[in-house]
Amino acid sequence: MSQSTSWQGSVTLGNIKFCSMLACISLMKKLFILSLLLLAACGREADSGVASNPRGKPQVLVANYPLKYFAQRIGGGAVDVVFPAPPDEDPAFWQPNDVAITQFQNADVILMNGATYSKWAEKVTLPQSKMVDTSAAFKAQYIEIKADSTHSHGPGGEHSHSGIAFTTWIDLVQAIQQAEAVKASLANYSSDTEKNFVALKSDLQTLDARLIAVGKRMANTPLLASHPVYHYFARRYTLNLQSVLWEPDVVPDEKAMEEIRVLRLKHPAKWMIWEGEPEKESVAKLEAIGVKSLVFDPCGNVPDGGDFLSVMKANVEMLEKAFP
Ligand SMILES: [Zn+2]
Repeated sequence: MSQSTSWQGSVTLGNIKFCSMLACISLMKKLFILSLLLLAACGREADSGVASNPRGKPQVLVANYPLKYFAQRIGGGAVDVVFPAPPDEDPAFWQPNDVAITQFQNADVILMNGATYSKWAEKVTLPQSKMVDTSAAFKAQYIEIKADSTHSHGPGGEHSHSGIAFTTWIDLVQAIQQAEAVKASLANYSSDTEKNFVALKSDLQTLDARLIAVGKRMANTPLLASHPVYHYFARRYTLNLQSVLWEPDVVPDEKAMEEIRVLRLKHPAKWMIWEGEPEKESVAKLEAIGVKSLVFDPCGNVPDGGDFLSVMKANVEMLEKAFP
């Protein structure tokens, strides 16, 4: 039996001080103004429906779409999964507004991707007890990207991909580990989480096995990637991949084409993997120098059609077609 130490159970009253009359009035004024502000804020939130929770389900806030998909499959109808990033932005470089930050701060569970994914979270106070770093289990296997130049895509402004690679889930074994962390965080809210996780794990394992097989068939064939987001993918499926900083909706200019020409002197790739459907003109320009295009969408944000699993299936099918 453990001995109780002397400080346990003691209460310090020594710090309580009585305020002067003037200070009290000033404090009461401040409290009154604060309560007015709070009332106003509550009214706004109820109007927009943002922070209201009529069904009383636990609110699960997520940092990206893969986590939204995992939480919805594992939590089923027992939780409300909220992903406030707009559909046209990369959630990794997204800057949430005050309403979204409040949503995260009021959540019952906050599912973070980890691996430095949500840059915004470093500058915001979030309730640590609610936060789950879904990639913590494989922290020791994070990949460090050496310096690259900054560039921009979308409204997030300039950014760099140097530092820790964060597109963790397209190594589908890592995706399963992230889903397992999601399961652990939702276990209190539903008795089906284990069963739902097992079904999701099986879906991901099937695709993982197909990717392992296609990776073997590719046998170290040099490949290009349109953007530096495939590090974990390349490691898991043994792909010989080099990245440029292209965008699917930007047609490469002469400088970009020259960069590819120089790169291919040492890395004679005949395929470029794109994050999204490239412009026809980009495909034609690459085709003209003997490089074919295929899409492997990491699906960090909500897809235009289907869901995480159907997008991953389409990705795998495209690779299998290219390397039969
Ligand atoms: Zn980028």
